[in-house]
Amino acid sequence: LREEIMKSEKIKIVSEIAASVAHEVRNPLTSVRGFIQLMGKDDLSKENRRYYQKICLDELDRAQQIISDYLTFAKPDPEKIEEIHVAQEIDYVTNVLISYANYQNVQIIKQMPEEQLYILGDKFKLRQALINIGKNSIEAMPDGGHLTFTLRKINKYVLISIADTGVGMTAEQINRLGTPYYSTKDKGTGLGTMVSFSIIRKMHGKIEVTSEKGKGTTHEISLEMMV
Ligand code: ADP
Ligand code: MG
Repeated sequence: LREEIMKSEKIKIVSEIAASVAHEVRNPLTSVRGFIQLMGKDDLSKENRRYYQKICLDELDRAQQIISDYLTFAKPDPEKIEEIHVAQEIDYVTNVLISYANYQNVQIIKQMPEEQLYILGDKFKLRQALINIGKNSIEAMPDGGHLTFTLRKINKYVLISIADTGVGMTAEQINRLGTPYYSTKDKGTGLGTMVSFSIIRKMHGKIEVTSEKGKGTTHEISLEMMV
């Protein structure tokens, strides 16, 4: 019975993700469709055609970003719970982020313990959570800076901290983190932190954000260690 319950819980999560991606991607697709139809008119000025084309490209980029916030690493189905070697996943994530960081003049620093730390979970989901947070940190440093990943252990918890030297947030902004569609960016989706937070929550973990305007932000994730 327990397994059955877990299975139905998983199916619920899968269909929730599928439903929100479908929902989020439908809007940009609908507007692309509308503008392509407009572009088919014979008497369209060159400027208008260019303008419609730009909207289409922007909307397609948006659809792509939404999919990447949800599904770059987190395969929707099935969730595979296994031993995760946390340092290895941080290596993976920093390798994915390195070119984006270089492009933005951000240096990535890793502080890893001697000890091997393991947790239980879906490593693709963990990657997705860390990537979304790391991407936000890099985007918070338009003039470059440092992005530091620290891994350590306190009692029976594994702590992953992601610290940036970026623009920081006010208490009010921190409060809105994780709320769908909260974004201060021109082309933001406002879905990245929501996805990260819900992944960590599903892993029975905690995430704590501390930030100072103009100084930077730290996300600290704590997850129960596997013994
Ligand atoms: P998006 O990145 O598409 O805007 P997110 O959900 O990933 O959406 O982030 C929501 C908002 O939270 C961002 O627009 C930004 O204002 C704020 N934010 C998130 N992480 C940081 C950070 N490390 N430093 C400063 N602001 C941040
Ligand atoms: Mg983001």
